[in-house]
Amino acid sequence: MIGVLAQSRRWEREPTTIARPEPSPDPSQAEEIRQLIIIGGGPAAYTAAIYAARADLHPLVIEGSLWGGQLMQSATVENYPGFVDGIDGPELVAAMRAQAARFGADLLTEDVTQVELQSGGPGGGIKRIWVGERLYQARMVIIATGTTPGSAPEERSPNSQLFAGQLQMDWQGRLTTVPGCTMTIGAQGVYAAGDVADSTYQQAVTAAASGCMAAMDVLRHIEGGFLDRDIFAERG
Ligand SMILES: Cc1cc2nc3c(=O)[nH]c(=O)nc-3n(C[C@H](O)[C@H](O)[C@H](O)COP(=O)(O)OP(=O)(O)OC[C@H]3O[C@@H](n4cnc5c(N)ncnc54)[C@H](O)[C@@H]3O)c2cc1C
Repeated sequence: MIGVLAQSRRWEREPTTIARPEPSPDPSQAEEIRQLIIIGGGPAAYTAAIYAARADLHPLVIEGSLWGGQLMQSATVENYPGFVDGIDGPELVAAMRAQAARFGADLLTEDVTQVELQSGGPGGGIKRIWVGERLYQARMVIIATGTTPGSAPEERSPNSQLFAGQLQMDWQGRLTTVPGCTMTIGAQGVYAAGDVADSTYQQAVTAAASGCMAAMDVLRHIEGGFLDRDIFAERG
């Protein structure tokens, strides 16, 4: 079920068969408040980005310096639907990434170092996200930071330390979500997708599916009137 650990394939972060999108210009220069920032660089994050970008939200994906996530360690994924003979994990996630970029998601290949998710106000207010000294701001955030696997696949540590004290977590450090959706508990307008919030399934296809759900929850949030609708007019 689980592909073979293949640390030696780490080099495939520079895909050879799929063009790597050029990094976007530093978005903080424009001091823009984004509609949506997605934190993470695995199947959950890129699927959320595909859906959000297609819905014209122009998301910024802060994908981490180790973009690609756990699939970069999977030599062959045999169980992702659509690939009769299986597919290399790095190739699969690189294709998701390229698809997100094709629809207009901006990719920033750096690690988020600090967040402030609870500024208050309608819709939960503006969320502040730092990459070192640089500040990025958004009205909504999807967290898809996954896990760092241990020596055995079941020994996984959720990448959630950044959110401690701001979002509710279970005893393992997995982000808690409202049953039936991806909304986190503790900060309005913040959603979680993939393994960082999943203690049960932890598969590429379920991570991708929950990324889709998170993007659709964001759209429902917008349609629900939590946000100032004028921000859509500003985008032209
Ligand atoms: C060896 C191995 C083999 C596997 N084989 C299979 C398989 O065959 N089939 C299958 O369905 N599943 C498989 N899985 C499981 C599958 O890879 C995961 O369930 C899936 O990748 C989870 O996706 P995700 O997007 O939630 O998180 P991840 O893939 O963990 O990605 C999270 C990303 O977020 C980034 N990130 C973390 N912190 C930050 C930060 N502060 N700022 C910015 N970015 C950050 C990380 O660097 C990473 O790129 C395998 C896993 C492993 C370890």
